[in-house]
Amino acid sequence: METPAQVSATQPPQPEITKSGGGKRLLFFFIVLVLLIGPWVFEFGLLDLLRDQPKDYIPPVATKSAKPKAPTFTKEELIDSFVNTAIFDVKEQEICITRWNKAVVTIGFAQAPTENIKKYVDEYVEQFNSVSNSVKLVGIDQGQADITIQLLSESKYLNVANTERTKKARGFARWEYNKGSCETYTGGAYFNMTQLTAALAQKIIIWHELQHNMGFWGHSELKACTIHGMACDLKEFGEIEKNFIDMLYNSGLPLCSKSHAATTYLLNNWQKKYNDN
Ligand SMILES: [Zn+2]
Repeated sequence: METPAQVSATQPPQPEITKSGGGKRLLFFFIVLVLLIGPWVFEFGLLDLLRDQPKDYIPPVATKSAKPKAPTFTKEELIDSFVNTAIFDVKEQEICITRWNKAVVTIGFAQAPTENIKKYVDEYVEQFNSVSNSVKLVGIDQGQADITIQLLSESKYLNVANTERTKKARGFARWEYNKGSCETYTGGAYFNMTQLTAALAQKIIIWHELQHNMGFWGHSELKACTIHGMACDLKEFGEIEKNFIDMLYNSGLPLCSKSHAATTYLLNNWQKKYNDN
């Protein structure tokens, strides 16, 4: 029979100590791992929940961090990005300069909007009109509108969304222009209201699809909140949107211009008017 001292001498309780120490280390590494990857999992999880198309989705995560200082751009940078956004579509195909070409363009609803939705549209109208001299937007409650906003249940939305990209998004824009004059003559913005429930997302996506309707075929690589795919803190039009609308609606830029002609025209005839700072 062994004494406790002998047991200790022949079989030191190292395995248990090792096991216990390993457990603590494992726990420690696990906590470090969670701290390291937790925010990423959260962000990607959030992005996934938003179920949006690659560029139309603008998760509201940025509002939780400090607001970045607004960038300023040169005239040449703004023209370059404007041409990419107004003339090239989301598939990078070159269209041309198209826009509404009448004094008043009306925006109406196919279904009764909530108070918030109506407010977001009214705010967009106000922002656009503060820059555009040639075309003014007017929100109407009833009757045939030039741009019709469709607030749809998911099943109805999926019936009208005709591409995989738009089906995955919570909203899309669809507008038509005359191939001869390049004037836009009808517009629409469609929303999946089953999915589009968060207030900030509603505002961002409504503004985004209305901005497409005004003649922007693609997305800006600059951080123009309304026509960009990145997180943003949307309050009002910034330097980029204001200058973009100024170029499209106030500069006399000829309709049907392709990218080279539009760039040359703007370099010679347009001056940057708006700065954020
Ligand atoms: Zn878009």
